[in-house]
Amino acid sequence: MINVTKTFLPPQEEYQNILQRAWDTGWMTNRGVLVKELEATLKAYLGVPNMIAMTNGTLPLQIAIKALCLTGEIITTPFSYVATTSSIVWEGCTPVFVDIHPEYLTIDETKIEAAITPKTSAILATHVFGNPCDVETIQAIADRNGLKVLYDAAHCFGVEYQGKSLFNYGDVSTCSFHATKLFHTGEGGALFCRPEYYDTMYSHHNFGHDGPEAFHGLGINAKMSEPQAAMGLAVFPYFDRIMESRKASVSLYREFFSGLPLQVLRLREGTQWNYSYFPIIFESEAQLLRVKAALEAQNISPRRYFYPSLTMLPYVNSKVCDLANSIAERILCLPLYLNLEAEEQDRLLAIIKSAI
Ligand SMILES: *Cc1c(COP(=O)(O)O)cnc(C)c1O
Repeated sequence: MINVTKTFLPPQEEYQNILQRAWDTGWMTNRGVLVKELEATLKAYLGVPNMIAMTNGTLPLQIAIKALCLTGEIITTPFSYVATTSSIVWEGCTPVFVDIHPEYLTIDETKIEAAITPKTSAILATHVFGNPCDVETIQAIADRNGLKVLYDAAHCFGVEYQGKSLFNYGDVSTCSFHATKLFHTGEGGALFCRPEYYDTMYSHHNFGHDGPEAFHGLGINAKMSEPQAAMGLAVFPYFDRIMESRKASVSLYREFFSGLPLQVLRLREGTQWNYSYFPIIFESEAQLLRVKAALEAQNISPRRYFYPSLTMLPYVNSKVCDLANSIAERILCLPLYLNLEAEEQDRLLAIIKSAI
């Protein structure tokens, strides 16, 4: 069985040794030693000053929308995981979809201004598959129109753009440390923000507490726990190895597809990528379904990331986004994980070649 991804598990003993330190303190959550150590480790590695570890990658989006007091309309991308749109709706705002760039697959920045109305409060875009949005243009649009900028950077652990972590862009960026992501804590995530927002974000993720007996305001519980942080600390030392291995698999895929009429992801110039996903875009949905069935018949499971387009969600007033809708119907992510064997890749590529 070859799946689209395989969760990296560190040697169990290493996880247990780290977890033992939580046992020694008798402290399982509320920012124990392991959460603090994980935050310090990741901040140093990524070069990000303001980070809050959280319990998943969805709550930081919701907290950011709440804490920045966003209301009305939020301009967003239809090509992402459902959490990007559901967070907007959950916080009582309205998603306004803007179509995507045909090659980068990120929000088409040239179409954002036409979607701004007096009700627009922010832009929430996704660096999809770890490919950066046009952050400079988006920031300039936001500045001209008094909007906040949020990035769903769930796929971006380890990605650098113009020489620094992609998490440094926008008012707030969020990441997911879910088990299917490149760096993971089982379930987990983080919020990165400008320094002036740190205290509010922090307070919101901890019930709004201002010390044990007072409250700043409304909050929720998004705290990361010690067992989650222990997993992160056990996985982290392997992160560079994970990226190296995936890099080799990606080169093999790229070389193969350069000889076929199928579209692969184009990375934005200035990006040092993390090899998080390998999507291919077929000429038609029929061709995709043919290839997918042929792979599945051989116990190989690619995934339709991201399908359907978020404009199809039953709780949004969908706006036509022709490109996003079309790409969502034709895109398939191929298996990619640490130690995916070259022979396995060759086998699945031969199946694709004969099925297209
Ligand atoms: C995984 C993912 C999320 C959600 O993260 P969780 O940690 O599962 O809550 C949000 N946005 C995108 C684009 C994702 O891929």
